Amino acid sequence: RAKATGKARCQIYSPRLSGPPEHDITLEAAMFQAVREGEFLLYYQPIVDARTRQIQGFETLMRWKHPTLGMVPPARFIPIAESNGLINLLGAWALKAACVQLKQFEEVAKRHLYISVNISPRQFRNDKFLAVLDDAIAFSGLLGEQLVLEITEGTLMIDPVHAEAILAKMAQRKARIAIDDFGTGYSSLAYLKRFPISVLKIDRTFIKDLPDSAKDGAICNAVLDLAKHLGLSVVAEGVETEAQMHFLESRGCQYIQGYLTGKPMPANVALAALKESTHAAVLPDELRMGGQ
Ligand code: C2E
Ligand code: MG
Ligand code: MG
Ligand code: MG
Repeated sequence: RAKATGKARCQIYSPRLSGPPEHDITLEAAMFQAVREGEFLLYYQPIVDARTRQIQGFETLMRWKHPTLGMVPPARFIPIAESNGLINLLGAWALKAACVQLKQFEEVAKRHLYISVNISPRQFRNDKFLAVLDDAIAFSGLLGEQLVLEITEGTLMIDPVHAEAILAKMAQRKARIAIDDFGTGYSSLAYLKRFPISVLKIDRTFIKDLPDSAKDGAICNAVLDLAKHLGLSVVAEGVETEAQMHFLESRGCQYIQGYLTGKPMPANVALAALKESTHAAVLPDELRMGGQ
């Protein structure tokens, strides 16, 4: 029997399909086998405080470790899972396993952390989604406010009336909503007014040419300003250099996620990073002198 019991691997138990030879099977067929074989894994990428660099939470990023193809990137398998519906199974597993993992991270850190999980458009529209969410929260025992659900502008725009209803239910559970890849989708700013959104994640395309690109600088400044006035948090995605970090920090960006402060990593490596972050997180001088 199935799945989603908060285990570290996504696995369902069903008889092997007798399929065509290995080299003939499509990626899609391989995916069903991968689920049965437990080839999907979760990696965790630190999200750090821009000023102290202490880890505040992690984004959960799915990985597929195929025995012969190696690591298949999510950009290849998520769209397939989205089109054949497997994303509902994979996504439910990821949500629950990530919530359980967060509890272990917290035991090590001895402080509250948060976990951010990507929700695809099809998952968001699935009528079992709220049940999946409730199950993940109840099973793991974390607080709703420790959970951030990342959705894209596109997800909201497909059916705004439905989105509004689902977001209201999420808000009841105190789960926060982040707009992933902010600024890259087709949407108007009106949705920031309409929907209960808590976090904007500035897409890497606006970060990668900082601080040289005046246009990207202006866009980041504008997003930070907008967020500040709307009372939203901002995470800058894909920060790779100290210069980018410095630009963002000096403009009041609160959270940083990128290779500079930590690549996506398996849970055991994330645990080690967390131990280090927890012990080494002394405040920089300017913060210490400023206050308590
Ligand atoms: P995303 O949610 O926008 O995730 C951020 C992506 O940026 C991740 O790619 C991450 O590895 C990458 N990244 C982070 N920091 C840096 C950096 O400093 N430089 C560069 N070059 N890249 C950086 P990844 O893991 O390949 O995932 C790609 C996308 O696949 C994600 O974009 C998300 O849309 C989707 N995805 C991943 N895991 C899941 C999942 O569990 N469920 C769903 N529905 N989608 C997922
Ligand atoms: Mg994301
Ligand atoms: Mg993103
Ligand atoms: Mg992105």
